[in-house]
Amino acid sequence: MLGIRGKLSLGFGGLFLIIMVIGVQSIRQLYLLENLIDVILRENYRSVVACQQMKEAIERMDSGALFILLGENEQGKELVSQNGPVFSRAMQAELNNVTLPGEAERAERIRDNFARYQDILKDVQDLQLPVENRREVYFSKLLPVFYRIKATAEEVLQMNQRNMADAEAVARTTAGAAQRNMVILLFFGAAVAILFILFTGRWILKPINRLIRSTDEIRRGNLDLVVQSESRDEIGRLSEAFNAMASSLRQFRRTNRTRMARIQRSTQQVFDSLPDAVAVVDLDGRIEVSTPSAAEIFGLRPEVRIRTLPFDWMGGLFDEALKSGRMVESQGSRGVFQRFIKGEEHFFNPTAVSILDSERHPTGIILTLEDVTRELHQDELKKGVISTVSHQLKTPLTSLRMVVYLLLEEKAGPLTPKQAELLLAARDESDRLHSILGNLLDISRIESGRMRMDLKPVAPAGIIAEQVDSFRSAAKDRGITLDAKIPDDLPEVTADADRIGHVLANLLSNAVKYTSAGGSVTVSAQARDDEVCVEVSDTGRGIPARYVDRVFEQFFRVPGQEGENGEGLGLAIAKEIVEAHGGVIGVKSSEGKGSVFTFCLKRADRAPREGSIR
Ligand code: ADP
Repeated sequence: MLGIRGKLSLGFGGLFLIIMVIGVQSIRQLYLLENLIDVILRENYRSVVACQQMKEAIERMDSGALFILLGENEQGKELVSQNGPVFSRAMQAELNNVTLPGEAERAERIRDNFARYQDILKDVQDLQLPVENRREVYFSKLLPVFYRIKATAEEVLQMNQRNMADAEAVARTTAGAAQRNMVILLFFGAAVAILFILFTGRWILKPINRLIRSTDEIRRGNLDLVVQSESRDEIGRLSEAFNAMASSLRQFRRTNRTRMARIQRSTQQVFDSLPDAVAVVDLDGRIEVSTPSAAEIFGLRPEVRIRTLPFDWMGGLFDEALKSGRMVESQGSRGVFQRFIKGEEHFFNPTAVSILDSERHPTGIILTLEDVTRELHQDELKKGVISTVSHQLKTPLTSLRMVVYLLLEEKAGPLTPKQAELLLAARDESDRLHSILGNLLDISRIESGRMRMDLKPVAPAGIIAEQVDSFRSAAKDRGITLDAKIPDDLPEVTADADRIGHVLANLLSNAVKYTSAGGSVTVSAQARDDEVCVEVSDTGRGIPARYVDRVFEQFFRVPGQEGENGEGLGLAIAKEIVEAHGGVIGVKSSEGKGSVFTFCLKRADRAPREGSIR
C-alpha cells in the first residue's frame, strides 16, 4: 500500500515523466528539422551555387575562346584567365560537397572534362597556329567538351535542386508530425495531471477532511464515533491513532461517570440522612441535590428551579450568596420563615453559602433551612418565665422594700446603729433587685409588644440636651468633660420621646461609667437621607473586639467588671426600644481608646407614619 509520500511521489513523478517525454520529443523533432534544413542549406544549396558558378564561368571562358578566334586576343585571354580559376574553385567546392548518389561520378566527369577543356583551349589560344586550324579545334574538340561540362553541371544542379525540394517536403511532414505529437503529448500530460489532482483529493484531502469532521464531533462530545479509514498510509495510521484516542476518552468518560455516579450516590445518601432542609443549587438556580425535608417542606426537588417556587426570598438569598461569595442569612422578618408541617407551626432560618472552585469562582450555592422552632419556643418559654417570675417577685419585693423603708424611718421603733447599717444594706440590694425586675419587665413588655410606643414627630435636639444636662454633674464628679454637638437645623424624628430619652440616658450612663477621669464624652447628631443618627462617643476603656458583638445581649457584661454596678440589661433594652422604632443601633469600639455608640431613627419629614406601633 502506498503512503502519502509514495502517492505524492507517484503523482509528481508522473508529471515529471510527462514533462521529460514532451521535452525529449520536442528536442528530437527540432533536431530532425534542423538536420533537414542543414541538408537543404549546407549540402544541396552549396552544390547548386557551385554548379551555377561553373556554368557561368565555362560560358565566359567559351566567350573568351570565341573572342580569341575573332582576333580579340587580349579580351579573350582576359576572360579565359579570369574565369578559369572561378570554375576551378566552384568545381573544387562541388567535389568537396558530394552528398547524393551519382553526384561523385558526375563531379569527377566535370573535373576530367574541364582538364581536357583546358588542354584543348591551349591549342585554341596558341597564336602560332593558323586561325583555320584553331577554329577547327574549337568546333570539333572544344565545343563538345564545353557542352558536356555544361550538361553535367546542369545535371548535378538539377539533382541537388530535386533533393532540396524533397528535403523541404520531408521537413514539412516532420514539422507537421512534430506538431501533432506535441498536441497529443500535451493532451495526455494534461489528462494525467487532472487525474493526479483528482486522486490527490481522493487519497489525501478526503481522509483529512473526514478527520477534521471527526474531531469536531468529538469536541461536541460524540465519543462513540469511529473514523473509517480505507488506506494503510500515514492518514490511515492517523485515523487509527484517532480512534484509539476516542476509545481512551470513552474509557476515561466511563470511569469518570462511574466515579461521578458513586459520588452522586453517596452524596444523595448523606443528604437523605440529613434531618435539616439542605439543597445544592447550580449557577442557573436549579436544584442539583436536596434532603428529603427540603423536598417535602419547600419543594426543593432536584431539577426544580428555585425561582419557580413561591418563596421570593430564596432568589434574593441565592443572588446575594453568589455575589458576595460568602455565607449570607435571610434579613426579612428577623430572618425566620414560618411553615406549617402536618398542621404544626414551624420556623426556619435560611442561610446560603456559595460553593467556590479552585480559582474561587462561584459554581453554585448550598441552601440550608434550619428548623429553629424549638429554639424559638425555648426562647419564648424563657421570656415567659422571666416575665412571670418578674411579675410574681415584684409585689412581694415592693412589700419588702416598704417594710425596709418603714423600719429605716424608725416607724417601728428606734434602731441600734448595727440594725440601721444592716437595714441600709438591705435597702440598697432591694433597690438593685427592683431595678433589675423593672428592666426585665420592660424587656418582656417590648418583646411581647405590650409596651406602646407613642410615636410623634419630636426634635431630637431637645431630648439630647435634656439628657446631657442630667449627666453634667455626674460627669463633673468623675472629672470627665461632657459635650454636645448638635446642628441647629437637625430635623425632627418619629419617636417616643420618653423611650428615646431612656436609650440616650443608658448610653450616656455607660459612657460616663466606663471612662476614667480626664476623659471626655461627646454626644453628636446628624441628619442623613431619611434618618437622623445620634452618636455617643467616649475616650474610655473601650470594648475588647471579641465582645463587641455581644454587648447588646441580655445580661452580658464584659468580663472583669465585677466591681462595677450594672446587670448587663441596659443595652439590651436600648436595642429593643430602637428596633421597636424601626431604627438600628450599633457600636464601634477599640480597646483602651474608647467606644462610639450610634442609633438612627426615621426622619419625621420622610416617614409620614404617625401613631403607635406594637
Ligand atoms: P451594664 O449595666 O453592665 O452597663 P449594659 O447593657 O449597659 O450593662 O452594657 C453591657 C456591657 O457593655 C457593660 O457591662 C460594659 O462591659 C459594656 N459597655 C457598655 N457601654 C460601654 C462603654 N461606653 N465603654 C465600655 N464598655 C461599655
